[in-house]
Order: sequence, then structure tokens, then C-alpha cells
Amino acid sequence: MSERYDVLVVGAGCAGALASERIAREGYRVLLVDRRRPEELGHESCDMVEDEALTQAGLNAASLTTGPSRVTGLEVISPDTATTVRLSEIPFRIVDRRLLATTLLARAREAGVQVLTQCTVGGVEVDRGKVIGVITDRGAYSGRLTIGSSGLDRVLCRDLPSGMGIPRRLRTSDFISVYRETRNVSHEHGAGLQSGSYRYHVGLYGGYSWTYTSEDGTLDIGTGVQDVPGNPDPREIVLGYVRSHPEVGERVISREGGRIPTRRPLSTMVTNGMLVVGDAACQAAPVIARGVGGALVGAMLAADTATASLEADDFGVDSLWSYNHSYMMERGAHMAALDCLRLLMQRMSDKEFSWGMGKKVVDEAEISSALTGRFAVPKAMTKLRTFFKGLGGVPLLVRYENSLRNAQKVFDHYLAYPARYYEGDFADWSQQADILFEDAERV
Ligand SMILES: Cc1cc2nc3c(=O)[nH]c(=O)nc-3n(C[C@H](O)[C@H](O)[C@H](O)COP(=O)(O)OP(=O)(O)OC[C@H]3O[C@@H](n4cnc5c(N)ncnc54)[C@H](O)[C@@H]3O)c2cc1C
Repeated sequence: MSERYDVLVVGAGCAGALASERIAREGYRVLLVDRRRPEELGHESCDMVEDEALTQAGLNAASLTTGPSRVTGLEVISPDTATTVRLSEIPFRIVDRRLLATTLLARAREAGVQVLTQCTVGGVEVDRGKVIGVITDRGAYSGRLTIGSSGLDRVLCRDLPSGMGIPRRLRTSDFISVYRETRNVSHEHGAGLQSGSYRYHVGLYGGYSWTYTSEDGTLDIGTGVQDVPGNPDPREIVLGYVRSHPEVGERVISREGGRIPTRRPLSTMVTNGMLVVGDAACQAAPVIARGVGGALVGAMLAADTATASLEADDFGVDSLWSYNHSYMMERGAHMAALDCLRLLMQRMSDKEFSWGMGKKVVDEAEISSALTGRFAVPKAMTKLRTFFKGLGGVPLLVRYENSLRNAQKVFDHYLAYPARYYEGDFADWSQQADILFEDAERV
């Protein structure tokens, strides 16, 4: 007989660790499983994370890094480098991903979560259309509720029988490939670099690149490129940057690569007996592919629904539905609308991007909205109308206007996400969402 828990959580990344802690604090028996060793959780690097999400999760950003956690400057540079937009408000903090992982794991343990590391989950156990547990290389575990938080592997989703609602596979183009290196700053040429400052270079192969100079004398260089055939390897872009910038030193302190799902939210993140959170549920911000903030917010909302369902002893789709609804209201509608802009950006040429930034068609307001994950179309629309008076026939303006219109429709549609689960209503809602995104992809 497999051991039975109230909740099984698969994946001890930021989403899984935070969700399990919150549920255990309510007095439930939680098992958190990860295939890695505890010291391998997180990443070997410092990440830029949404400040608001850290605060909501009760995390003190200053204690999550050995260096300064404040980002002192954030600049976005056009592909032709002629235009730089400086953000006046920077809602991000620098977080050491190993420290974040250790902190969240310690908090989970302290709340009573049983942690099982070096244990690989192979799939779900389903009985009469309901997830009742997981199968691992150490045996089977059963739970009243299962949470899938295995990041982009989406091991539980991939193993679901068809017809259980949560999409099993994502398209390749729903991912961005990321590569980054941390290097020393050259003693000889690096004197002019401003520390604590992020620089984003946009419009490269449907992605972006960034550099961050830390006060400890290191330089983080990274690139994200949409995962579609023909796009270059992001590693080559980073190495090209290194070769052409003498301020970047020779010594590689760390390097890592990976993929991040960057797309609209899943139409549903719940099925009978199971819900998904974090990268597994595509909760990263689509334009900049930052996923920690989304994973933390998703985890908190998932934990709220899980505890209510445990209390009611009801794990059917209708009981778990409040997670879908609260996520769409709090974050998902913004992410879906911003995904329309991501689709436009990934199709814009470098020339169009540079022109748009040079003419201030895309300015601080839009860039700030895209980076912070808050969709703010009315201002952009008003501004666009003034551009049309002077530059009416420019194809990019027409596409941008169409994109904003689509984004507004998508935003409204996601805000009208069904508050309760009725199969027919949800099918209508999903079909309409697909139609809206077909339009968005045509821009
Ligand atoms: C190179 C790179 C740079 C990034 N930079 C940033 C950044 O600056 N800011 C930001 O916000 N985001 C960044 N991200 C994205 C961010 O790392 C993810 O969005 C975030 O980690 C998602 O959290 P999660 O908990 O959903 O998944 P993860 O952190 O991926 O955790 C998933 C866990 O599941 C475990 N697991 C997977 N499969 C199994 C299995 N079969 N059995 C058992 N356990 C399993 C894994 O070992 C892992 O510990 C970056 C990503 C990459 C690749």
C-alpha cells in the first residue's frame, strides 16, 4: 500500500516549496518531492524578481542575496542602440536563486512539510477520472490532492490521460531559450560600468538580451530567444557580446541555460484531484520571461484553494476552480493581454523596433507595463491616435494598433473568466480565447 498524504507536491522550486509551506501551516500533511538534492535546488545565479511578489510571499529581498538587492537603474536600449529608455520606477530586486531555494525549503520544513529529495516522479495515478497519487522511482504515493510544480518538465501534465482539461503539451514556440554567463569585469576596460544597473537590449530574434553589473565586480550577460526553427543559439549571442565588449572579463564565474514557457496562461490549471502552478502552469511574464514572481503568486493562490478544498473534502474540478478564477483576476488577464504584445514584438524587425522607440511610439509607459506585468492599454491607445494624425500610413503603427485592440479584447475576455465551473460555459470561453489568440498571432 502506498503512503497517503493530504497533499503531494511535485517539484520543490519556488512554486512547490511555497505552496507546500502554506498548506502545511494550516495543519495538513504535505509531502514535497524533488528529483534534485536540496543544495541543487534553484539556480547558480542571481535573478531579477518582482519585488511585490517577494513581499506578498513574506520574503525579505535583502536577506536573499549576499550583495545589494536593489536594482539602481533599468535601461531599455533599441536594436540600433540609438534610443535608450530609462525606467523611473524599478519594481524588481536581485535575488540569489540558491538562497531563495534554501530559504523556501527551510520554511517548508519548519511548517511541517515532509521533504523527499533525489526522488524522480514518473507520472500520475488516475482512478475513475481523478488524480489519486503519483508514481516515483521510490514507489507510489497517494494524496487527497496533488500539486504539479515540476517547472517546464510538466511531468504530471504530460502524463494525464486525454480529456482531463489541463493541456498536456505546449508548442515549441511557446518557449524562450535562455543562456547566461556571469563573468568578471575587466580591470583594464571596465571602469566606466555603472554597478547595480540593468540594461535590456530588445528586438533580437524574437527575444532580448540583458547585462547587469553587480557591485561585487561581476557582470551578468544573458539572452532569451524564441524557440523557433532558424533562430540562433542564445549562447552564440552571449559569446558574440563578450567578444565585442572589452569591458567583459575572461573569467567565467557561472553559466547556465534553459527554457522558459512564455505564453498566455493555460485555460485551466485544474483537473479532478490536481492543480498545477509555476512554469508548469505557464505563469511567467510573457514579454520578459521572468517566472519567479508568477510562480510565487500562483503558489499562494493555489495554496488558498487547496486549503479550502481540504476543509470541504472536495477535490473535484468545481471545488478547485476558484484557483483558476482568482489567478485570472489577479494576474492572468494582464499576462494574456501582454502575450498579444509579445506576439507582435517577436514579429517586429530590428528596424521597426528601433523606429518605434526612436519616435516614442513605444516609450517608458509601455515598456514599464510590459516589464512589470501590468497591461495598461488606454494610455497607449490615446498616444497612438496622436501619432496617426502625423504618420497615418506607417504599417507598424497599423499593426501596433491592431495588437493593442486585440490585447484589450483579450484582457476583457480573461477578466470575464467563468467564476464557477460549468462545462458548457467553460467550453465557450475557451473557444473564444482561442479565436482571439488566432487573431493576435496574425498581426
Ligand atoms: C537561465 C535562466 C535564467 C532565468 N532568470 C530569471 C530571472 O532573472 N527572473 C525570474 O523571475 N525568472 C528567471 N528564470 C525563470 C525562472 O527560473 C522560472 O520561471 C522559475 O524557476 C519557475 O519556478 P517553478 O517553481 O515553477 O519551477 P522550477 O524552479 O523549475 O522548479 C521545478 C522543480 O521541479 C523538479 N522536478 C522537475 N521534474 C521532476 C520530476 N520528474 N520529479 C521530481 N522533481 C522534478 C526540479 O528539480 C525543480 O526543482 C530564468 C530561467 C532560466 C532557465
